[in-house]
Amino acid sequence: MRLILLGPPGAGKGTQAERLVEKYGIVQLSTGDMLRAAVAAGTPVGLKAKDIMAAGGLVPDDVVVDIIADRIEQPDAANGFILDGFPRTVPQAAALDDLLKRKKMKLDAVVELKVNEGALLQRVENRAAETRARGEEVRADDTPEVLAKRLASYRAQTEPLIHYYSDRRSLLTVDGMMSIDGVTEEISRVLAAIGAGAKAPAKPARRASKAGNGTRKVSKPVARKPAKAAGKAGKKAAKKAKKPAKAARKAPKGARKAAKKAVRKPAKVARGKGGREGRESHQKGHEKAS
Ligand code: AMP
Repeated sequence: MRLILLGPPGAGKGTQAERLVEKYGIVQLSTGDMLRAAVAAGTPVGLKAKDIMAAGGLVPDDVVVDIIADRIEQPDAANGFILDGFPRTVPQAAALDDLLKRKKMKLDAVVELKVNEGALLQRVENRAAETRARGEEVRADDTPEVLAKRLASYRAQTEPLIHYYSDRRSLLTVDGMMSIDGVTEEISRVLAAIGAGAKAPAKPARRASKAGNGTRKVSKPVARKPAKAAGKAGKKAAKKAKKPAKAARKAPKGARKAAKKAVRKPAKVARGKGGREGRESHQKGHEKAS
């Protein structure tokens, strides 16, 4: 399985990536971690990145693209990977598309963790306190001032990726304001719903929370894949009475359930055109939740 985790600093990408790594047996590729290691080791890349990172800016695209190009070819990434903190700009996303195409690799999904920005400062402060409590050194960029810059660069340079991937119908949006376990469960659910990750729990697909922001909610992939199987299944099921249809039998467990459900009631597709209004109303939902 190959995934991208998208979300602002403090959204919980690292925490969720660790859990996905365990669950799906894939590797977490965090450009932030790799760059920090390069800075600590004093490599040429590290020397280039050090001041930019400390100031909350973005390291040049070609530097991170080269790092990722090397890394996804390593044997430990053969089973799949989760990109955490990459891509962060549209040119990085375009470079990743080219890279994957050249290597004949397919991206399964882009998971966006949607969070209320107001909560991010608190989260980053908590992370710094926990790091201190473990006796480890706090990240130079985990300060309120630098966080403000990182958020600004997220908004200006990374947020356009939400549209980039939603246009390509790869985007799955998850409410990142839930508990850590709740977010993990929701990610597993949306991935199972699109048939990604054989080990994902076989829960039937249902609509994700309303967003209407142009992002593809879980109901869309559900409708695309399992519903197709369900279409066939429906016809066969009508003929063969109780016997599950071939398409549904062949499908992975999660898809089978979704297919069965879709036979009863076709999955609804959330085709929200989105735009600012939708995003704002969704954001309000988060604010209520937080
Ligand atoms: P992170 O740990 O993902 O928050 O990244 C920490 C810092 O590393 C960022 O604030 C950037 O300075 C740099 N960085 C990480 N990933 C990228 C990327 N894909 N493109 C540019 N800079 C990056």
